[in-house]
Amino acid sequence: MSRRRPPRWVEWAPRARERRTRGRDMDWHADRELANTVVCPPKPKGCNAPIGTTCRNFGTGQELENWPAHEARLKRAEAVFQAAAEAEQAEAPVPSEETA
Ligand SMILES: [Zn+2]
Repeated sequence: MSRRRPPRWVEWAPRARERRTRGRDMDWHADRELANTVVCPPKPKGCNAPIGTTCRNFGTGQELENWPAHEARLKRAEAVFQAAAEAEQAEAPVPSEETA
């Protein structure tokens, strides 16, 4: 007996529909959450938004909607996240000495 695989669009169509109705997916939210853990770089690369606040559009002053954050902020957040992860890894295998 032979089973034919369903066509591709069967797999991605529901996701595409969900994306259209909700507007954004999990990655978008994860990116914004990560970006908001660092300060946005000052102009012209970013909007200088403090930690915990969303980036704002230079022109309108409204919170960014299409992007989770300014690209420079996203890169900075990723770098910080990466550095923290590496520092954690570097510290982990070192046997802890009894220091007070
Ligand atoms: Zn910004």
